[in-house]
Amino acid sequence: LKEHNARSVWHPMAHPADSQANPPTIVASGDGVRITDIDGHQAIDAVGGLWNVNLGFSCQPVKDAIAAQLNELPYYSIFRGTSHPAAIQLAEELRDFFAPDGLTRAFFTSGGSDSVETALRLARQYHKVKGAPSRTKFLSLKKGYHGTHFGGASVNGNANFRTQYEPLMPGCHHIPVPYTYRNPFDETDPEKLAQKCLAALADEIAFQGAETIAAFIMEPVLGAGGVIVPHASFMPGVRALCDKNGILLIADEVITAFGRTGSWTGSRHWGVQPDMACTAKAITNGYFPFGAVMIAEGVAEVFEQDKTGKAAIGHGYTYSGHPVGAAAALACLAETKRLNLPENAAARGAQMYQGLLALKDRFDVIGDVRGGQGLMSALELVSDRATKAPIDKSRIGAVQEATYRSGTMIRVSGPNIILSPPLIVTEDDVSRILSDLATGLAAA
Ligand code: PMP
Repeated sequence: LKEHNARSVWHPMAHPADSQANPPTIVASGDGVRITDIDGHQAIDAVGGLWNVNLGFSCQPVKDAIAAQLNELPYYSIFRGTSHPAAIQLAEELRDFFAPDGLTRAFFTSGGSDSVETALRLARQYHKVKGAPSRTKFLSLKKGYHGTHFGGASVNGNANFRTQYEPLMPGCHHIPVPYTYRNPFDETDPEKLAQKCLAALADEIAFQGAETIAAFIMEPVLGAGGVIVPHASFMPGVRALCDKNGILLIADEVITAFGRTGSWTGSRHWGVQPDMACTAKAITNGYFPFGAVMIAEGVAEVFEQDKTGKAAIGHGYTYSGHPVGAAAALACLAETKRLNLPENAAARGAQMYQGLLALKDRFDVIGDVRGGQGLMSALELVSDRATKAPIDKSRIGAVQEATYRSGTMIRVSGPNIILSPPLIVTEDDVSRILSDLATGLAAA
């Protein structure tokens, strides 16, 4: 399998030749929070799939719901004149779930990038329907990650994900992110930094002209950019600037919705109601590719009350609202609620964060510890604490390998180690993750 993998599989976010030099771990099975590779080695998956397997790998109610739906109706589309019970029931459940966020309509997609693309397109259309066709630009954060379609890539803050694919969508501008460890203002106080970033956003809006901007998109807690938790004043400040300037606020909740931050949604944690929220990942826990964009009442009304015909939606996917995905999502939502997973995410996230801070006291290679907001944490590794020079790629790879050998799978993203285990982890699981990580750091 390893040879065949190297010969025929191209891996996302990797050099095509990487898998020849460093054969990836080939995972054969999963059970609870643990995976087993083809060599029989078992590890806790502290990555939680890819921030998505909140319920672990063997959630029986989800498997049963998928099997039942496969027997009942494996596929039908929800385009125009057709629908099916699973999609309708899920939309109703999501309406209740997102009611505190003010989001009442669901537009189904097949994953996170599709959800971002959908939200960007609906934002432009919303302004056209309202008679403001000049509002076409998008603003986002410099370390934000919004998937890999051309729209999402254009608003991505990390230039590595943009430059090879340029020219991208014109009119996308990125503003400084409230990231205390490295920021253009050299500001380490989180609240002051948030205010400076908000001032930069206000300047950018004025520079571009508010009447040209469709939407601002942000993750309530930034994930792939290295788990950046903005100060509590930041997202409400963004909401206020958007309101003042007629700009839609899109929350990219692909990672944060359904409990990961210790709150049911990331926006709710900050007390913000966005105009749209992109979801995917944990909506089906990785058991089926699926996503949904949740839409606010005020935005929905503009579309639904349109008499000009401009609100006809020319966008959607063959697999929008896939019945098996919808059935999986219904079961995942029910299990997440039954187990009250946000509460466990908050408690275990606090344990993880304290443990990582303790590791920082032991290992000079740790420059920054981030997280503390549910089960999303990161360590930023440096070769020199004083200069904050980034760690060498091979050294962080060695930490990952040694940690895996000890019994925990971690994710490496640039200079960061990212930890986002399933939300069902126990206190013992988190202790084990921390001790394996310590072993990995010591060995490397
Ligand atoms: N938005 C965010 C915040 C994400 O983290 C991701 C994926 N990591 C995406 C969008 C894209 O989702 P997908 O990979 O399912 O297309």
